[in-house]
Order: sequence, then structure tokens, then C-alpha cells
Amino acid sequence: MESCPFCRVAEGKAQARVVFDGDEVLAFHDIAPRAPVHVLVIPRRHIVSLAHTSQGDRDLLGTLLAAAAEAARQTGIADSGYRVVANSGAEGGQTVAHLHLHVLGGRPMGWPPG
Ligand code: AMP
Ligand code: ZN
Repeated sequence: MESCPFCRVAEGKAQARVVFDGDEVLAFHDIAPRAPVHVLVIPRRHIVSLAHTSQGDRDLLGTLLAAAAEAARQTGIADSGYRVVANSGAEGGQTVAHLHLHVLGGRPMGWPPG
């Protein structure tokens, strides 16, 4: 999808600091990090949000979560702890309409999120 910023990253048309590059998923550093480590994990295929997934996406969603754990290992936050977040839709705080997981770490996380 030409107009989607994360499709552009997935297609190599926009630059990103890649952490983990898989067949179905891609992990890269957030451009405006909210924590010392802030990585985004996306499916290469354009899916708008978690609300746009179905039972047929179960394998892909598992792959996405496993990639988040791998990104945490590769960025050195697996042992200290981290948070995985999927904002979905307007009231969920989603601003980029391509499904992504945030992997945040490197500092203590507050709870609940705002
Ligand atoms: P959300 O608000 O959950 O949709 O998260 C979107 C995230 O994408 C924000 O944390 C942005 O800083 C980040 N972001 C937007 N464009 C890019 C980009 N081109 N490369 C990396 N991160 C981006
Ligand atoms: Zn997209």
C-alpha cells in the first residue's frame, strides 16, 4: 500500500533501523522512542489493526508475538523486563493504520497506561 508508512518500510521504500527481519514480520526502532528501547513489530502484509484480524490470522499473530520476544532479546531487555502494546483504533491511541506491536523497555513501566 503506497500511502501506508509501514508498508513503505516493509517494502524497503522508507528507511528504518531494522532489528529483526522475518519472512512475514519485520521489527524496527520507533522513530520517536518513548523508552530507551522502543521497537515496532509489524506484519509485512497490510492489516489495519488487531480489530481487522480474524481466526485465519492466528498463525501470523503468533509469529508477531514471537517476533516481539525475539526483538526484546536482540535489544537486551529480555531479562530486565519489557512491555508489549498493541494500540487499536481511535480510542486505543492508534495513529498508524498498519497493525504493529510496540516493544518498550530499558526503564520501569508505569501502570495503568494513560
Ligand atoms: P501508534 O500510535 O500505536 O499507531 O504507534 C505508531 C508509532 O509509529 C509511533 O510510536 C510513531 O513514533 C511510530 N512511527 C511512525 N512513523 C514511523 C516510521 N517511519 N518509522 C518508525 N516509527 C514510526
Ligand atoms: Zn501498511
